[in-house]
Formats: sequence, structure tokens, C-alpha cells
Amino acid sequence: MFMELNSSITRYNSLFLNSVLSNLKRAIDLGGFGEEFFTYLSRPMRTISINIPVKINGSIRIYEGYRVQHNNALGPYKGGIRFHPEVTLEDDMALATIMTLKNSLNGLPYGGAKGAIRIDPSKVSKEELEAVSRGYARALVQFIGPDIDIPAPDLNTNPQIMAWMVDEYSKMMGRNVPATFTAKPVQLWGNPVREYSTGYGAALWTRNAARKFLKGIEGATVAVQGFGNVGYWLSHFLTEMGAKVVAIGDIGGAIYNSNGFNPDEVKAVERKTGTVVNYTGPGTRKIGMDELLTLNVDILVPAAVEGVINYSNANAVKAKLIMEAANGPVTSDAEEMLYKRGIYVFPDIGVNAGGVVMSYLEWVENLQWFIWDEEETKKKLDFMITNAFNRVYDRWQKMNGATIRDAAYIDALDRIYQAMKWRGWI
Ligand code: NAD
Repeated sequence: MFMELNSSITRYNSLFLNSVLSNLKRAIDLGGFGEEFFTYLSRPMRTISINIPVKINGSIRIYEGYRVQHNNALGPYKGGIRFHPEVTLEDDMALATIMTLKNSLNGLPYGGAKGAIRIDPSKVSKEELEAVSRGYARALVQFIGPDIDIPAPDLNTNPQIMAWMVDEYSKMMGRNVPATFTAKPVQLWGNPVREYSTGYGAALWTRNAARKFLKGIEGATVAVQGFGNVGYWLSHFLTEMGAKVVAIGDIGGAIYNSNGFNPDEVKAVERKTGTVVNYTGPGTRKIGMDELLTLNVDILVPAAVEGVINYSNANAVKAKLIMEAANGPVTSDAEEMLYKRGIYVFPDIGVNAGGVVMSYLEWVENLQWFIWDEEETKKKLDFMITNAFNRVYDRWQKMNGATIRDAAYIDALDRIYQAMKWRGWI
């Protein structure tokens, strides 16, 4: 069901933002929500631009930052903060728009947001990083809070940065306010599941998809591209569930073993040497990344970067299911080619949402000063992730000829649309 887009879309300099708006338009048209709804969602509700002065060795440096609050029809804004030297406001707008959809699809009481600071964290001292992080929290004090906007980490940000920010915010409020930031250290109101929540969530989507589209996850063969936080934990949990991870790749290359890897052993070698290709266990051979992406496996999981399955290789892909653990790894032209060949693509806004669902659970804990143990938290995560999967699957079955991404987008949009209708916004 690939539709022509109509042309009422503002064109931005950011290819990424244009593509997000095109996808949004396509889903709004396909779901029959109407032009007004697109007009509303095509712009963020609030865009905050800040300049953070930092005094280092007696001289002042200014860091530019943003917070884009896209839509809060469903609840407080929620989304990560990225630190990157090339980040732009328009890319931040695109990311905030995706967060509105992701939060809705996963049944969270949140709207979408995203923040950024133009900084290369590898080029500044720890003191400067701390000063910039605290400066960001100070500059946004009126615009964030447990029932306003709840930031979390993203690219190049981590629990330490969240700890500095929650500390700064709490000092300004004159009391501890843990529910303002999520993915904090375990000792500072965080939850131990956070470390692996995105990989675990992606494994749950894969398990659920294998139950519906294959003979179950036990014995299913899997190729994984990317062996960082998401790819490693996904491989760990899929192996625990009985799948066979037969190929693993990272920036250094890829390895194959028809008997399946023990992901923990591969990770130990990668941690020591910097890449998985130095793993030489019995039955292992090196392969190229092109070969990994086109292996004859049941499930292919791109968990590294965007655009790796594209027009040039989509027709060579042999996997039955593709799970988008990374953001945007399958281009839209590739998806059309895969769709025609009966290969199912499960979209990123569901597959990699384990992190934000975990953030929601941490926020609920913090609001009530609850402490849930690891097993209890994992159960809650499984319940929420499986709920989202089932909603998408049921909707997809009723939408004759649609892709699973179409079903996911429309499910997410429907919830936002209903909330906006009840509020009288549209
Ligand atoms: P990471 O930095 O921990 O790991 C990235 C992995 O990808 C590494 O193994 C790296 O070697 C590999 N890689 C990088 N460039 C590559 C290339 N060109 N070809 C092959 N391999 C390459 O990152 P992560 O946190 O695991 O995130 C992976 C993806 O998942 C990203 O798209 C990210 O935006 C997305 N994501 C992550 C989270 C999270 O909680 N970490 C949440 C949602 C989405």
C-alpha cells in the first residue's frame, strides 16, 4: 500500500526532517485523519533555543542548545538529550516528532520532545562537561519538570550527565525532584534494568514476531549488525530465549558461526580488543558486512546506524523478518522492495522503544518513591512491550495490504488524534 504523497509539506534544509514529515503525511493520509491533523503535527508546539555560557580557565565559552517540545496532547513531553558537534535544530525537530509517535505507540502518557547541545564531549574536560550539563538544566528550569517535560539520555549522554542535571534541577527547586530526568544511576533513583532495556525490548519484539510469523523463537537463526548497547543485549536475551545468533557484525567487520555464538563470550573479546572480528571460537569464520545483511537467516536485526538496508541491497536480503533495532536502518524505497517480496519489516518506533518504556517505569517509581526490583521491572516492561506489539499486529491484520510500519504509525497517530479531539484542539 505505497501511496503517492501530496505536496502540502514545508521543505526544510534537513533531509531527515523532510523524510520524517513525509512519513507522517503518508500515515495521516493512509489513516484518513485529515489535513488539519497533519498541519498540527508538522510543527513543534514549542522550540526553545538557549546559549550556555561556561567559564573555563578564566575565559567564557558559549554552547548552543535546544529543547524541542513537539506535542503534549497525551501528557508531559518526553525525549532524550544528545550532545553532538553537528546537531541542528531541524534534526532535533525531526527527532522530537518521532518521539511523539513512539511514546504514543507504546501507550505512555507522554508527548514527544528532544534536546541537544552542540558539543563534542570527547574534546572537553570532565569539569567542562559537568558545567555544560548543569547549565542546560538551569537554562530550561521553567520548561522541564515531572509533569512538564522529562529528559533522558541519547547520543553521547549517559547516567552521569543525568545525575548532574537532576542535582542542578533539585538544587534550584530546593528539594529532590527525581522524576524530572530518567535513566539516572541506580544509586540516584535509577533502575538496574535501564542498562539493557532497549536490547531487551528489541528481543521481546523479536520473540513476539517469531511467534506470529515463524515457528517461535526457539531455534530461529539471527544475524545482528551492531554489537553496542542495543545489539549486544538483544543477542544476549535472544540466546537466552533459545534463538541461535549465527552472525554478528560491528564497525570492524563481521563473524559467522552456523552453531550460534555465545554473545557474552563475543562481547568479552570485543571489550578487550575493540571489535568482534577478533573472536576466534571454534567454527567461527570472518564474513563481510554485505554478506551479513544478505545471509539466509530467519531474522535480520540492524542495530547500528540508519540506512543500511537500502535500494542497492534490499533485493539480496534473504531473512524472513527484519527488526529495526537501530533508528531508521531500512530506507523507504527498500521497504517497498522487501514488502513486494513478502519480507516483514518491524519498525523502530516499536522495536527500539524498550529504553523509553523503561524511562516511564523509572518515572512512575520516582513519583511514588517506589523501588521495584529487577525481575518485577522486567515483567512490567514485557507486559507493556507485548501490549504494543499485539496492538500493532491486530491492526495490521485488519488493514489489508498495509506494511507493519503503516499499522504502527496509524496506531500511534490514532491515540494522539483521539486525545486532541477530546481536548478540542482539532
Ligand atoms: P553503540 O554506540 O553502543 O553501538 C553501536 C554499534 O554499531 C557498535 O558495535 C559499532 O561498532 C556499530 N557500528 C557503528 N557504525 C557502523 C557501521 N557503519 N557498520 C556496522 N556497524 C557499525 O550504540 P547503541 O546504543 O547500541 O545504538 C545503536 C542504534 O540503536 C542507534 O541507531 C541508536 O540510535 C539506536 N537506539 C539506541 C537506544 C539505546 O538505548 N541505546 C535506544 C533507541 C535507539
